[in-house]
Amino acid sequence: MWEWSKITIVKGDITKQKADVIVNAANVSLLGGGGVDGAIHKAAGAELLKECKKFHGCPTGEARVTKGYNLNAKYIVHTPGPIWRGGFFDEQNLLRKSYINSLKKAIELKAKSIAFPSISTGGHKFPLDMASEIALATISEVLSKEENEIENVYIVCKSEDTFDQYEKSKKKMAG
Ligand code: ADP
Repeated sequence: MWEWSKITIVKGDITKQKADVIVNAANVSLLGGGGVDGAIHKAAGAELLKECKKFHGCPTGEARVTKGYNLNAKYIVHTPGPIWRGGFFDEQNLLRKSYINSLKKAIELKAKSIAFPSISTGGHKFPLDMASEIALATISEVLSKEENEIENVYIVCKSEDTFDQYEKSKKKMAG
């Protein structure tokens, strides 16, 4: 059985979310950017960029851990999601990897709670309906299959449209 009860869709700003781990939809440079990445760097403070520089980037679908600095989180997991290029470049599998590798880091850190943004559906243009189903299926599958201490997964949606799509997909998939 897949695990759905631990997943909550939240409407809000992820930088205000209280969780052991906050996931950043980064880009491959890991040096900050627009959207949620910019908001996280702004809220966390300048020390975050200093720590990110030491990684010299991160490939799409992988994940890197930093401290949470001024966020309400112990750690930030940075994962560059795929840029949508028509679906011909393994984008769906790469988005799945972003969720799997972020959750693996959170499990290693013994996190009890983790907050995700809607990875890749802003500047990276991944179609929202497909992205929401990949996000939900991957999260519930990992929670069910991997030994973990996670009690709560929050998917924090900034816009009403994003929130509505995740709610719709969750209803469709979880019943
Ligand atoms: P990507 O480059 O992975 O597409 P974006 O940051 O452009 O990342 O967008 C990903 C999602 O994050 C979008 O749904 C966007 O509306 C949302 N977003 C932007 N700022 C925030 C925030 N502060 N909290 C939560 N979600 C946010």
